[in-house]
Amino acid sequence: MRAATISCDVLVVGGGAAGVAAAVAAGRAGAQVVLLERYGFLGGLATAAQVGTICGLYLRDTAHPKATPVAGGFIMEFAGRLERAAGASRIRLDNGLWVLPYPPPVFASLADALVSESEKVSVMLHTTVAEAQAEGPRLVEVRALAWNEPVVLCPGAVVDCSGEATAAALAGAGVENGAGDQAPSLVFVMENVDPGLAERGLLEVRRELRQAVEKGSLPALCERLALVPGTGADGHLALKINLAQASSDLPLWQQMTAWERQARALVDELQRFLIANTACCRNARLSSVAPQLGIRSGRRIRGRATLADRDVLDARKSAQGVARGCWPMERWGNAPRPEMTFFNEGDYYEIPLDCLRPVELDNVLVAGRCLSAAAGAMTSARVIGTALATGWAAGTAAAFQALGRPLDDAVATLRQQMN
Ligand SMILES: Cc1cc2nc3c(=O)[nH]c(=O)nc-3n(C[C@H](O)[C@H](O)[C@H](O)COP(=O)(O)OP(=O)(O)OC[C@H]3O[C@@H](n4cnc5c(N)ncnc54)[C@H](O)[C@@H]3O)c2cc1C
Repeated sequence: MRAATISCDVLVVGGGAAGVAAAVAAGRAGAQVVLLERYGFLGGLATAAQVGTICGLYLRDTAHPKATPVAGGFIMEFAGRLERAAGASRIRLDNGLWVLPYPPPVFASLADALVSESEKVSVMLHTTVAEAQAEGPRLVEVRALAWNEPVVLCPGAVVDCSGEATAAALAGAGVENGAGDQAPSLVFVMENVDPGLAERGLLEVRRELRQAVEKGSLPALCERLALVPGTGADGHLALKINLAQASSDLPLWQQMTAWERQARALVDELQRFLIANTACCRNARLSSVAPQLGIRSGRRIRGRATLADRDVLDARKSAQGVARGCWPMERWGNAPRPEMTFFNEGDYYEIPLDCLRPVELDNVLVAGRCLSAAAGAMTSARVIGTALATGWAAGTAAAFQALGRPLDDAVATLRQQMN
């Protein structure tokens, strides 16, 4: 089969939060953009794993009645349009953390609208990148299967937003495997649940689960059930079951297959148990299960700079800062609840452009979960608000590179937009 060849200024690999922001940024900066996504819809984990709330948009704050944005620019455009389209509004959780709940289909259609509005962006869905070729420090060719037909892409610059630094790794960039850093979760939705449950929390449900686990009638992992905030008031309650961290050296594809099957079997047991044994779910039904298991950390690049845990906890700023993070470190390990490490209320840290640049490749940037960060720092920088921000920064910088403009000018533009 002969492969079609497609040239562009900027190629964006992966249409999750980071990839959508990168494609829109590069298009608005004047570059011809191709956005590749392996699924038939955009949004990445935000839609495929039905995450359900955006973190990292507003500063932590226990005092004021209104949320303060962490930065201006695209992330606030995205949040504002999502709020209007979903009829949703931001909510404050424990410890002053603000989140924006959203229905996953609304996130996907907003992502579609944003890329469609830019005549410079072409989207290729059902397109999976499988090879990338570098000549010296330049990535020159990416090969993919587009609905099972081979295509060759020849870009001026590449933004890798695959969540796994796939294009960068295939082209020879140094990477780190973070798959074992955090536990994955599968989200599922029950309908016709007692609406009071969302307010009361899972205390009573957990008691029932514990007894069943102790009797040996449910697997121990069933106790690791959590609520998705902002759901349940209309009787549709989103829940997530948290698996154990990877403990072996299985290849990633083998680990993913095992996790997906284990999580889906647990959801099946859990929903039957909840309906049969808890008053709040007596009349409930399983409504949907996310198409993809939620992976909190995967492969990431070793960048020209690396975001350190102390950068996050000391809320460090940088003259090269192109994106802001404001979410605490939130590490999901093998305990039922995440381990939270906070920095000062009302503050944020900055992510320097060099955290988005692999050491080995000059015309490649990364964003979202692929950026160069220590394991702890990534538990903060991975959230959707920050992924949108790093995506926007990487897309802008890639467009400047492809159009022959200095990267320092991109940094200056981005810093102005953040303010
Ligand atoms: C269970 C769970 C709960 C979470 N809860 C929250 C929360 O409440 N709030 C929050 O803000 N964040 C949350 N997060 C984190 C957040 O959802 C993700 O870190 C964020 O969405 C990552 O965005 P991304 O664009 O970097 O990557 P992804 O969303 O992973 O996007 C990567 C995209 O690349 C595509 N892709 C991958 N490989 C290829 C390839 N070879 N070719 C073509 N396309 C490819 C994928 O299909 C995907 O669309 C949660 C994460 C998990 C797992």
